[in-house]
Formats: sequence, C-alpha cells, structure tokens
Amino acid sequence: MSANASKINLLGLSPDKLEAFFEELGEKRFRASQVLKWIHQMGVSDFQQMTNISKGLRNKLEEIAEVRAPEVIQQWDSKDGTRKFLIRVSGDNAIETVFIPERDRGTLCVSSQVGCSLDCSFCATGKQGFNRDLSAAEIIGQVWLAAKSFGQLSENGPRKVTNVVMMGMGEPLLNFDNVVDSMTLMMHDNCYGLSKRRVTLSTSGVVPALDKLGQYTDACLAISLHAPNDELRNELVPLNKKYPIAMLLDSAKRYIDGLPDQRRKLTIEYTLIDQVNDRDEHAQQLTDLLKDIPVKINLIPFNPFGLSNYKRVSNTRLRRFQQILIDAGYTTTIRTTRGDDIDAACGQLAGQVNDRTRRSERYKIDMAALSSSQADVIPVKAIQ
Ligand code: SAH
Ligand code: SF4
Repeated sequence: MSANASKINLLGLSPDKLEAFFEELGEKRFRASQVLKWIHQMGVSDFQQMTNISKGLRNKLEEIAEVRAPEVIQQWDSKDGTRKFLIRVSGDNAIETVFIPERDRGTLCVSSQVGCSLDCSFCATGKQGFNRDLSAAEIIGQVWLAAKSFGQLSENGPRKVTNVVMMGMGEPLLNFDNVVDSMTLMMHDNCYGLSKRRVTLSTSGVVPALDKLGQYTDACLAISLHAPNDELRNELVPLNKKYPIAMLLDSAKRYIDGLPDQRRKLTIEYTLIDQVNDRDEHAQQLTDLLKDIPVKINLIPFNPFGLSNYKRVSNTRLRRFQQILIDAGYTTTIRTTRGDDIDAACGQLAGQVNDRTRRSERYKIDMAALSSSQADVIPVKAIQ
C-alpha cells in the first residue's frame, strides 16, 4: 500500500484519538469501536468492507483516511519455529519483528525505533546508530501484520500472538507517545485484547520517561540491567552515566508499586557476556542490589554478531550464575536462544537502517551533554 500524505492513517490512532476523529467528522463516538474492531480484530483495511457503517460514511472515510500498515519485505522461518519479518517503513528503512512460538504461547518481539541512539556495547541495533522513531501505525502495524500472517485476524483462525514484548530494535521510552498508544491498542478489548500481564516494555533506563509511564499504562516492565554496579554498567550501557543504577531501580520500583496488582514483579534482564559480567561476585552483588525489590531475573546468554568482540558465556558459567541467584531466593530463568540461524535472536536485530547516523560521523549521543544535562531527553548531537 502506498503512502498518501494527505490521508490520515487510522491504523495507529488510539481509541481516544479515533473517537476524537469521528467527533470532528460530526459522527457518534461509538463509530470508533466499530472501526477499531474491523481494523484490529478482522484485519480489514478497505473501508468498503466495513459493512456496519453507512455507505455515505464509508465513502467519506475513503476520501480522507486510510488504514496503512508497513509492508513485509521478506520473512524467514527458523527451524525452531521462530519467524522473522523484515518490514519496510517509510524513508527506505527496514525494521525487524520476531515471532517466537512456545508450547503455551506465542511472543511477538516488536521494534520501536529505526536503530537506537543509546549505543550499548553488546547490541547490534545500537551499533547501527539511530535513524528515527517509528510512528504508532508502524509499531502496532507489526502486530497487525504478524497476526494477519498467522490467521489470527480471520474470524475462526488460530490465535497465535498471545504476548508482545517491546524488545526489538530501539529504546521504547525514547519514543514515548507512539509506544504508549500502541500498547493501549494491544491491550484494548476492541483490538487485540492482550492482558496487561502479556505486554512488556523493556528499557535500558530512561528514568524521567519511566517516572511518568505509570500514568499511561499498566503493562509489565523489564529493566535491562546487565551489571550489578555502576562502574561496569557505565561500560555496557552508556546511558547509565546519566541515570545510574540506584536511580533507575528506584524509578522501576515506584512503577511496580503503583500497579493495581501487587503480585506483579519487575523483570530484570541480564545479558551474560563471557568474562565481562559473568563472575560469581557479580551474581552475589546482584543478589544484594535487588533484595528489596520484587523481581524475577531473566539471564540472556550474549548473542554474538559481526561487529562485536564479546563472546557468549559458557554453559557452565551460565548455570553457575543462575544457581547463585536461585540459592539467594530469586526466580531466575534463562532465555533460550531462539532463531539464531536466521539472526533473530536478542540483540541480533539490525534491520537495514538507512545510514543517516553512522555514529562517529553524523549523529551520536552527546556524552558531554549527557553528564551535565538535566533534560529528560537524551541529547543527540546531529552533525551535518
Ligand atoms: N532498548 C530496550 C529494548 C530492546 S533490547 C532495552 O535495551 O531494553 C531488548 C533486550 O535484548 C535487552 O535486554 C538487551 O539488552 C538485549 N540484548 C541486546 N543485545 C543483545 C545481545 N547481543 N545478546 C543478547 N541480548 C542482547
Ligand atoms: Fe538500544 Fe536496547 Fe540496544 Fe541498548 S540494548 S542499544 S537501549 S536497543
């Protein structure tokens, strides 16, 4: 489907925004629920197929609006059932979305930005630099496309996407409004109806945005920690220099405390890199650090990629690290590597970022500004 700049794309409008859209047209607000169901539950993009809407309104919608998802360029199926979609978004960029089937659920790993400006030392997306934020239509469009590709949206089709994790390319909290609108659509009854326990936002720790997240959503939260002390985390996650561990964990704890359901826990993600953050003492420090927070810990063996010298942790180390955490009373799981034969594993997502941002050349996180700035946005320096 080609972009039509003059038409408004209804795919990414949150229920509130779609209601306002119909109100402006002089229509009743409930039109929004009808249209949301057609778009998100039935996968319909042609207004003429929306048969519970009058012919006149359908024609009007056709004139001024559209339902436009990004386009799947290619898809790969891993031998373990994982499916990776390469999706074209405007500006000649491509992003990646990964579907991971498990026995009792199907998780879709969704991207929030084209590239990422935060430059974590172990992440393929970070190495690509940042190009731009995805629109809400491009974010929810990934769910729409995947669900459609599995037949979820046909009335009797099997429901395959049961969980969504914002763990693809990009830092979701740096694209706050579009991510929040998309998560609202994921959880809304007239749309995908996923429960708040089945939608997870993962962040490397943009504290000011995290501080306000609770006003907009009650989705699950995962913190990409990766190190038990600031010295080490500064090396792995440069953003830590601006928002150190204590500040980040405080903010995450406030988010969890604010959730209506007290049983919910914070997920701590810890990517284990050989001889970097995998020692017994790191595990012990972690047990101390997290002792006052309700957490479950997810260990992710580092997935190697071309531009990195890091190595995957050995299985013995991985088990030993896990055992220390379990012995201290933490629920600790290991994220099995899925889809690595099609480069779909965590941190291997690179898409094809149209190079506006080779870090050292054009855009980069302005580290000087990072340490001095009080702003709640990450200073990104554009070098023309
Ligand atoms: N920007 C967000 C979400 C995307 S990254 C964040 O950082 O949380 C999703 C997860 O994959 C994060 O926990 C990230 O640290 C992890 N990850 C990134 N690169 C990885 C790699 N090479 N191997 C294993 N995990 C990686
Ligand atoms: Fe960005 Fe997350 Fe990768 Fe860090 S780990 S560079 S925050 S996508």
